[in-house]
Amino acid sequence: MFARFRTRATALLLGSGSLVCAINAGAAENLSPLGVSPDWIKLARYQETITRDDFIRLLNGVYCPGNAAAEVIKTEATSARIRKSKDPEKFFRLRFAKTEATRKPIGRSWMTVATLPPRKPSGPLSDLRIALDPGHIGGAWAKMEERWFQVGDAPPVQEGDMTLHVAQMIAPRLQQLGAKVSLVRDKLEPVTPQRPDDFEQLAKKILKKGGLAQPREDFDGPADPQKEQSVHWQREILFYRNSEIRHRAEIVNRRLRPDVVLCLHFNAEAWGDPTKPTLVDKNHLHLLVNGRYLPAELEFDDERFEMLQRLLSRSHLEEIALTETLAATMAKKTQLPAYEYIAGNAAKGGTSGYVYARNLMATRLYKCPVVYLEPYVMNSQEVFARIQAGDYDGTRNINGQERSSIFREYADSVVDGLLEYYKARQ
Ligand SMILES: [Zn+2]
Repeated sequence: MFARFRTRATALLLGSGSLVCAINAGAAENLSPLGVSPDWIKLARYQETITRDDFIRLLNGVYCPGNAAAEVIKTEATSARIRKSKDPEKFFRLRFAKTEATRKPIGRSWMTVATLPPRKPSGPLSDLRIALDPGHIGGAWAKMEERWFQVGDAPPVQEGDMTLHVAQMIAPRLQQLGAKVSLVRDKLEPVTPQRPDDFEQLAKKILKKGGLAQPREDFDGPADPQKEQSVHWQREILFYRNSEIRHRAEIVNRRLRPDVVLCLHFNAEAWGDPTKPTLVDKNHLHLLVNGRYLPAELEFDDERFEMLQRLLSRSHLEEIALTETLAATMAKKTQLPAYEYIAGNAAKGGTSGYVYARNLMATRLYKCPVVYLEPYVMNSQEVFARIQAGDYDGTRNINGQERSSIFREYADSVVDGLLEYYKARQ
């Protein structure tokens, strides 16, 4: 994920733009693009499972700071009144538990460090089910998903290839430690069966609702400042981001049902023309947990429902504790400084300085604790040189410094973090 992608159209597709709020206006439901109609009765299993204090603490402290949910969730004395649609008379009432001691238990498919069975001889991660989600698609799709750049004749840098490489390094090591590991994507191909052509009509509808009744068909490459206003770009991002992540969520939630998902990414700074990319000095690390929903995002019935499922499943406690531990081991291993978010769509989480809360589709849709990793600026001078050096044993001199392979360093820092976190199990 890049800072430069926090543009109007990205916001549109992730559901944080004003443009998309107009979509489905007047319809019974207000869903984000490709959003699934919420089945509100599913929240009934959370009746009396949370006290009012805990609900308010998570709502105001993690998911909807700054009163972002004021229009859609009213916290009353013994219950919360949650709007189900645009019609304020259609609401779901969530009853609070009177006390922590009398609250009803939550049925969950995932284990925390505290609920995992005792360690078995197979290793310190025995019984832990981890899903690794290599970010993006890579391969022949890397240019389309704008996760591709090339310096001169050097091999191109493709984020989706590198995240898969790191996942394939981490997986056997975690298996050796006793974990059950699965990859959400295991090749350089999309998980979704859909393709950009499937989204022609939806792309036009999105642009029309945004005031572009006769949008451009094509755009002039990734550096085109008007690309978001073209049908071509819209249908591609609906494919490689929206549809792709929704299909990964189906795999995670229906098939894998892990205890935790690690979303593996490499970060970048704006690089301009991908065939003549800008290389920068900046290099940094941050990790993301789910949270910090914006009022415009909470207006979508599906996003509001999904936020509440996360809040009520209490995934945050496990998610933030694991993320902070991973932040510490990754910072130690990589020696990277913390990234400072300047956009208003993220809020600091935890105390390490490396962790932010943000409403990303993956962290919202995967129904278990999710850690989203963003180490390394791919187009920094240093990281670019390390990527070009590839994978190797031991250390090599890179720009005057002895460095281990960037892929091994990434994998090591993740394995170290998981070992550190799960050593606290019974
Ligand atoms: Zn990424």
